[in-house]
Amino acid sequence: MERTPGTGAQPERGRAFAAARHADGASRTVAAVRATGGGAPSHRRPIVAVLAVQGAFVEHERKLAQLGANCVELRQRPDLEKPFDALVLPGGESTVQGKLLRELGMLEPLRERVAGGLPVLATCAGMILLAERVAQGDGPYLATVPMTVRRNAYGRQLDSFRTEGEVAGIGQVPMTFIRAPYVESVRPGAEVLAEIDGKAVAVRSGNQLALSFHPELDISDAVHEAFLGMIGQGAKPGRQSLTTTPKRRAMPAAW
Ligand code: GLN
Repeated sequence: MERTPGTGAQPERGRAFAAARHADGASRTVAAVRATGGGAPSHRRPIVAVLAVQGAFVEHERKLAQLGANCVELRQRPDLEKPFDALVLPGGESTVQGKLLRELGMLEPLRERVAGGLPVLATCAGMILLAERVAQGDGPYLATVPMTVRRNAYGRQLDSFRTEGEVAGIGQVPMTFIRAPYVESVRPGAEVLAEIDGKAVAVRSGNQLALSFHPELDISDAVHEAFLGMIGQGAKPGRQSLTTTPKRRAMPAAW
């Protein structure tokens, strides 16, 4: 597959991997994420909490605001008292984020909320925060997704690149990788939604959607729309998989 080093260039068309695999090998329907764009309580805008202790949280907020969501920033423990319908764990440095979450006393309350079914979108470092096991790092942190991720998995030569790939249930999306992790393995309850070069880069586990790449940095809204669609969808907490019909999304003409 062709890749474009760096993040300033246009995405190259990469090979799409449409198949989603279940850790237990069962041939069930892919756990799809319905791209309904704001499936929160119909009487009001969804409120999304964005972890804002470090990293690329502003980009998520911008994207979510464009899609009609209200955002609240989680910077310290009392922020957890604010009402919110969903959570974003942004990219950044997982070791720093994890350490701060511990020091601020936010790790346990967040783990409880996520384990209780709060819809979560986690990108890059955020994916590492969700992993039950972390290779090459200090984790685990929230440890709510039964998967093993490898930090900085692409090495120095290829530490940042852009491509495009199919995410099951969402469709073809641009993918920007920045010192990204990939998923080494998933266990029952987590399923792979996308692979690039044979490496899993998107995983869903019930209410949790974890990505190696950065949809907040790209023009496509598909991932964030799908995430908002998880709100109020009855995503089961923890290790359940949703089994709805995958829905392909048309690609914007700009791609
Ligand atoms: N390399 C970072 C880490 O290990 C993740 C990079 C990112 O979020 N873009 O946490």
